[in-house]
Amino acid sequence: MSAVEPQAGVAVAAGGAAADTAAHAGNLAVYLREAAKRIDEACVRCGRCVEVCPVRPLSALKDADPVATVANVLDALVRDARLDDGAAGWIRSCNSCGICIDECPEKINPRRMLTLSTTKLASEGTKTPELFKRMSRSIKLMLAMQVIPEEFKRLFIPEPRRSVPFVFYAGCNPLKTPHLLFNTMMVLDALGIDYAFAGGPSACCGVIAAKWEGQIEQGGRVAQSVMRRFDKFEPQRVLNWCPTCEIHLGETLGGFTESGFQFDHVTNLLVERLDAGELCFTHPLPRRVVLHGHVGSGAQVTNNVARLLGAIPKLEVVEILWEQAYTCGASGCAKTPELAKREHAGQVEAAQRHGVDAFVTLYHGCHQAILSAAKGLGLDVLNFTDLLVEAMGATPHADANKTLRALDDWALVAETAGPWLKANGVDIDADFLRENGAEIFSAAEFRGGLACLGGEAKFGVSRAGGPRRQAQASTPSADS
Ligand code: SF4
Ligand code: SF4
Repeated sequence: MSAVEPQAGVAVAAGGAAADTAAHAGNLAVYLREAAKRIDEACVRCGRCVEVCPVRPLSALKDADPVATVANVLDALVRDARLDDGAAGWIRSCNSCGICIDECPEKINPRRMLTLSTTKLASEGTKTPELFKRMSRSIKLMLAMQVIPEEFKRLFIPEPRRSVPFVFYAGCNPLKTPHLLFNTMMVLDALGIDYAFAGGPSACCGVIAAKWEGQIEQGGRVAQSVMRRFDKFEPQRVLNWCPTCEIHLGETLGGFTESGFQFDHVTNLLVERLDAGELCFTHPLPRRVVLHGHVGSGAQVTNNVARLLGAIPKLEVVEILWEQAYTCGASGCAKTPELAKREHAGQVEAAQRHGVDAFVTLYHGCHQAILSAAKGLGLDVLNFTDLLVEAMGATPHADANKTLRALDDWALVAETAGPWLKANGVDIDADFLRENGAEIFSAAEFRGGLACLGGEAKFGVSRAGGPRRQAQASTPSADS
């Protein structure tokens, strides 16, 4: 048995996974404390990681001294010192781009230092209360609005134990954009790959509890639980989708959990099969597109996707538009909203300047962020999986997330999605959806919002008007 292998592009912090494994004995708080101590001992306080950080000019770190900032971060992390504004701003605005990693002369991973600091801050007082519950409910609602019952069950209900060579692991939030998961599974099916699916709140990697809610022990239990979930399929390889799970399980917790399988991104397998001549794109797609990419650990996935798209006859990728965050979304670019807004606007402008037929997105968070950034501009936004399926001669899964967003009228969304919710056993008040749909679709739970999905087990009742049906989900739930 070996520790989960960090993915290519994900660095392991000073001290390494083996040392981490030996020290913690299954206790995540101990494991994180030991990891922090090793970084503290190895860091020479040169300040280089601050100097190169792209969020520096956009945060409270702007005028802070780099050397003093790193010293303060480590003193707070390891010796409980008080954080000054610059150091606290740096921790809160780190978008995990990973640019600092290659710059560290001591081969420390500064991103991991900031992730450990974020976790410690959350344990002292979270800004996103009951995040797991609110997120789980928003995932269930958004999924139920977009798919038929058979598909809902496939993504939301855990598969029974069986022995398969591969697990396709989605993480939690990708279920909000189910079309790209079904597209990926169409490609895996066409390749004749035997796999089980694991995803949704019941297969959370534990990042929400540990890093956001500050419930470190719970986070450790959740991470161990998802590993047991994988183990029951006895896979040789877990094909991951979500970049947050990748960093959490492969880097932040590298060595905390142990298993006997390889853990890497699903696009690695697709490129392997492309190189082996097994993945063939037979249908030309005479289109010009731009590809949205991410730096750091996202660079390998971006380059994989560029390779795959490059193999599609007549498809031209005119430019890869790189963004300085490991992904779009709450724990990525949204940590520095000004940078995200500027970069997304710039990318949409570039796509328009090139006069492309489509803007191609990478991860699930990117897809939703770019749909928002391109709203009303007449730019077609597709996920790369749409193109892979089409180039194999099949029809991509309908992108209902895009369709619902395009309605731009939450009364109409509630009306359109009502029958889908009902078919999936989610009994929700239409007024509730009209009132809260915009927040739900903007992942407001990661900004401390979506209190409407918190509280006790029942949800989905409008605040306004007279007596309402007491709405609740009748399908098995991971949110209560
Ligand atoms: S990961 Fe990126 S945002 Fe975070 S500290 Fe490093 S350079 Fe800055
Ligand atoms: S670059 Fe490395 S050694 Fe220098 S301050 Fe940052 S973490 Fe420490």
